[in-house]
Amino acid sequence: MLEMQAVKTLDLKMYINGEWTNSSDNKTREVFNPATGEVIAYAAEGTVEDARAAIAAAKEAFESGVWSDLPTVERAAYLLKIADKIDEKAEELAALETMNNGKPLREAGFDMGDAAACFRYYAGMITQPDGETYHVADPMQAMVVREPAGVCGLIVPWNFPMLMSVWKIAPALAAGNTVVFKPSEVTPVTPTKLIEIIEEAGVPKGVINMVHGAGPVVGNEIASHKDVDMVSFTGGTKTGKHIMKTAADTMKKVSLELGGKSPNIIFADADFEVAVDYALFGIYCGSGQVCSAGSRILVEESIYDKFIERFTERAKQIQVGNGADPETEMGPLVSQQHMEKVLSYIEIGKEEGARLLFGGERLTENGMDKGFFVAPTAFADTTQEMRIVQEEIFGPVVAIQKFKDEAEAIRLANDTDYGLAGAVFTIDGAKALRVIKKLRAGITWINSYHPTYNEAPWGGYKQSGIGRSLGTYGLDEFQEIKQININLEVEPVGWFKN
Ligand code: NDP
Repeated sequence: MLEMQAVKTLDLKMYINGEWTNSSDNKTREVFNPATGEVIAYAAEGTVEDARAAIAAAKEAFESGVWSDLPTVERAAYLLKIADKIDEKAEELAALETMNNGKPLREAGFDMGDAAACFRYYAGMITQPDGETYHVADPMQAMVVREPAGVCGLIVPWNFPMLMSVWKIAPALAAGNTVVFKPSEVTPVTPTKLIEIIEEAGVPKGVINMVHGAGPVVGNEIASHKDVDMVSFTGGTKTGKHIMKTAADTMKKVSLELGGKSPNIIFADADFEVAVDYALFGIYCGSGQVCSAGSRILVEESIYDKFIERFTERAKQIQVGNGADPETEMGPLVSQQHMEKVLSYIEIGKEEGARLLFGGERLTENGMDKGFFVAPTAFADTTQEMRIVQEEIFGPVVAIQKFKDEAEAIRLANDTDYGLAGAVFTIDGAKALRVIKKLRAGITWINSYHPTYNEAPWGGYKQSGIGRSLGTYGLDEFQEIKQININLEVEPVGWFKN
């Protein structure tokens, strides 16, 4: 276990134009360990002035060309250096992630590995052949080049503090942009460590700037400021809509990774134990605080009772506790406020008449009373109009429903405002693909749940977002496309009489 006594309270400053700074009014915010309720850090509480200073630094750095004009092999070398440093510090970073976010150490460890891999992936991508040429009418030659979008505003949530930061920072820097970055005020610890690493790697001043602070203050300034060319946001759908409206005034490009209420469809012919196993992983990994969580389980009628029995038996064995304990399988929720939101949804589920199978309460035994723990929870016999079926709870709470046939499974699966992810469990390959093709969702699995790769685009349909992270699509979000038309015979056009 991470010894709290050994960890001194951290002082998290902001990083603006290559300097570590307090906020302009010297205010700070307490940062907590959600497993113990203890204060682990004080983070500078950024102001609108701080956000403006960061935007000005990013603009100046962009216009100077200190980053965007670098040959791609040189930019790639910086990214590779950052990846190596993340690997070197992976253990320390994972422990800090667990301490601030609450996720079990093994989850945090995976996140650090993925973070380093993401920087390496984009380092490789930008050194590949790029651009297009077109054979058009003589004597013209047309070509298309990709250019950096400019100053990018990156706003991230608290559920994967390091990984969500990297999913944006790596492609934004790879594409030659400069950055103003706002981590979640709840989980600023590993994002600050990441910026220290980027500084150590020698990235020139002004290229990356980080402002801590509240979304409605710092985030809003980033989304509205005319010198920010694009904003890439991951967070709740409500906030995403607000950012889109705010960004419209200056016609910024927006990229939005939002919430979900993803269906996990289990057919009677599925490998039963595999389906139960992934259903547990789909919802309880990350304490359900995962945008793509399989928070609705749709089970074919003939195996519904059997599924519920086995799912309950397995879920009751999940070890909940402080994520720093290697035995822990599920940690706390990220904050008291969020725990209260999740508990209030459990009450809504009961009032709506869903059948509570297990859980449904805050956990306080074995030293959990100071932290923000909620038991793995499941409701059965849920119906489509229930709020616990339609709304994102973002906690360890799953709604289980029964379906009669393939058509009903598809109808129920698609019947929410969200369209982020979904999975199908069956040994019938043709049926699996038929159903997946009908799902209105951007991230899907067959006989699996959760794994995703830097190579593959991540993002949602409907109200789950606009645009994609990762893969080549993720780089596109941070680029502008320019056509260049070259006249190979420099003569007057002759359109008007001379
Ligand atoms: P929020 O939408 O509350 O916050 C996300 C970020 O936006 C935070 O940094 C927050 O700041 C900031 N913010 C809040 N209000 C504004 C505003 N008015 N203007 C600009 N920025 C603002 O989400 P949570 O942090 O609660 O994260 C959970 C949500 O994120 C879930 O709905 C989840 O589904 C979604 N998510 C989606 C993912 C995806 O890939 N699709 C991945 C991960 C999460 P502050 O620091 O004040 O909170």
